[in-house]
Amino acid sequence: MSAEEVSAPERTRILQDLGLVAWARRAEPQAMQDVTTTAEPVTAEPARTDGLPSWEALQQSVSGCTRCALAEQRKNTVFGVGSRAARWMIVGEAPGAEEDRRGEPFVGRAGQLLDAILEAVGTSRDEVFITNIVKCRPPGNRDPQPEEAEACSQYLQAQIALIDPALILAVGRVAAHNLLGVETPVGRLRGQVHEGPGGRPVVVTYHPAYLLRTPSAKRKTWDDLRLACSQVPPKAA
Ligand code: URA
Ligand code: SF4
Repeated sequence: MSAEEVSAPERTRILQDLGLVAWARRAEPQAMQDVTTTAEPVTAEPARTDGLPSWEALQQSVSGCTRCALAEQRKNTVFGVGSRAARWMIVGEAPGAEEDRRGEPFVGRAGQLLDAILEAVGTSRDEVFITNIVKCRPPGNRDPQPEEAEACSQYLQAQIALIDPALILAVGRVAAHNLLGVETPVGRLRGQVHEGPGGRPVVVTYHPAYLLRTPSAKRKTWDDLRLACSQVPPKAA
């Protein structure tokens, strides 16, 4: 993936392409209520009694992890970014070159498009939690191997259990297949609500890198995002 950033005018154009600018403005108060969180950042955590690691212990485990071969060539692990109390979790495939350099998911060109999409539904990368199926970059951006995804899945499962999101958005084939345990094409998985880890709703949509190559899929992505919004109940007043 290119490290090139999406300029402000291009971003506006993307939003306009998606038909999102007008909608986002109109719908923002409702959408904000639907998908944002007011949780404070977590500082010190008490010991857990449910068998799950603490968030800090989980972060430390990932940063030193050598459970699979992807540990060998990574520069940084990419744990994930966002709120510990997010109501949406967004799961991608794997870090690319820029993500590996910075230790943060979705910071390349596809990430800029993801940010624009999040903004359009009234949220942001600080309010959701964004991570990937594997936390280390596969060399040459190849797909993660099944054994790598399997080795890394304990971290994703723990992140999901600790955050307990109302909705998981799986972006792209690798995320969808690993989260749902199926091999159905994204085009047939999208547009419906699946039951994912712990019975949580999972909505599948196209990967933003695919949208950059296939702008005609943006309309469907927008429909998927609206479906995802409909799964996140409004917060209690
Ligand atoms: N693509 C992904 O699936 N994840 C990232 O973090 C970046 C690009
Ligand atoms: Fe560990 Fe996951 Fe990185 Fe493999 S990809 S080394 S399992 S953190």
